[in-house]
Amino acid sequence: MSFSALGLSDQIVRAVTARGYTQPTPIQSQAIPVVLSGRDLLAGAQTGTGKTAGFTLPILHLLSNKVVKRSPTGKIPIRALILTPTRELAAQVEESVRMYGRHLPLTSMVIYGGVNINPQINRLRGGVEILVATPGRLLDHVQQGRLDLSKVEVLVLDEADRMLDMGFIRDIKRILALLPKQRQNLLFSATFSNEIKAFASTLLNQPVMVEVASQNATADLVTQRVFPVDRDRKRELLTHLIKTNSWYQVLVFTRTKHGADRLVKQLHQDDIVAMAIHGNKSQAARTRALGKFKDGSLQVLVATDIAARGLDISELPHVVNYELPNVPEDYVHRIGRTGRAGSSGEAISLVCVDERKFLSDIEKLIKRSLPQEIIEGFDPDPHAKPEPIQVGRQSKHQPRRGGHSDRNAVSKPSSVAAPSKSPSKPQKKQSDRSITLR
Ligand code: AMP
Repeated sequence: MSFSALGLSDQIVRAVTARGYTQPTPIQSQAIPVVLSGRDLLAGAQTGTGKTAGFTLPILHLLSNKVVKRSPTGKIPIRALILTPTRELAAQVEESVRMYGRHLPLTSMVIYGGVNINPQINRLRGGVEILVATPGRLLDHVQQGRLDLSKVEVLVLDEADRMLDMGFIRDIKRILALLPKQRQNLLFSATFSNEIKAFASTLLNQPVMVEVASQNATADLVTQRVFPVDRDRKRELLTHLIKTNSWYQVLVFTRTKHGADRLVKQLHQDDIVAMAIHGNKSQAARTRALGKFKDGSLQVLVATDIAARGLDISELPHVVNYELPNVPEDYVHRIGRTGRAGSSGEAISLVCVDERKFLSDIEKLIKRSLPQEIIEGFDPDPHAKPEPIQVGRQSKHQPRRGGHSDRNAVSKPSSVAAPSKSPSKPQKKQSDRSITLR
């Protein structure tokens, strides 16, 4: 199967070929014909599958083959609206739109919060056909009367599960109310909770469902291991792993922003170059850290879950869960950063006694138990008692407004830290999160 056999125009095929893609990924071969046919789409695909091109390429094709109806003032209307949960993802998606659309006369731009709004306002004045945005900042523009979404032909909700998780549902509903009834809707999600299914059923009109890999299954190319360790020796173990294995590019996850900052400081004390990205950092600081990490000058990037959403770092070899996420789906998203687009990767979780319940929830979700290995010299105390963990958020949490893409610790001592009797035993009972599309 080739890109041209999928029905994409020569200009688009030329752009993807220049990018080095020889054939479509499974999500692309399934999704592209559906989008080209004009149908609504419900797609199960996580980052790393090539999903961005899965919706970007056919949208570019559709828009470039239709005559634009300009407003009486001659302005080009917004014809495609792509909503993403985070600024980083929005920026990456728009970069893809530009790259794949480089031989087409279509215009695009990205808008997100955390940066000066004025350049965005100026740019919007000129007219933009493809708009990639985070919901909060988009509504800021709408409220100031600067955006007309009434001519949108295609709507994409990228990483819809994460948008609902982040409490964007109300913002999204407000945005939907501004769109014309007649339009094409594409919804991409890595996981399918009952909430997302209910939302999809209100948004989509007789959608075609496509799915790559079973839902909530972790990528086969990723080697996953758990290193049990005492809670106060995690940092020492992390340094040990980085130094003895000479890891040069490691993405490390913490549960909270504060935890990320603290770990960066500690790694510096161990002479390891590290930077953090999370919602309290300015967009410029986040972009700088990401740029250094991508070009190889930064050895360790410490991130909170939401800040890391959708990061596209090719062939990232190591992902470390310094702290396990309390929301099991986040584990799937985290390790989706490695083993991407055909390359293999390694995901390591440093797990202390407090996190056993998190681990068993993750194993239940991915329907497999993770191999555990004790690193010599780091044997955990067998008599250690679990302590409650302050969790950042639960699966269902309060709606929160704005493009601020991080969740903060709410200092809620929780029963989630209750010890599990058998952390590594595969669970028989299926949670509703693991129900697949078909
Ligand atoms: P995504 O899931 O959209 O974040 O894409 C993950 C990575 O796969 C990105 O680095 C893309 O550039 C890359 N990619 C997308 N489509 C293809 C393809 N057909 N062949 C090879 N790599 C691809």
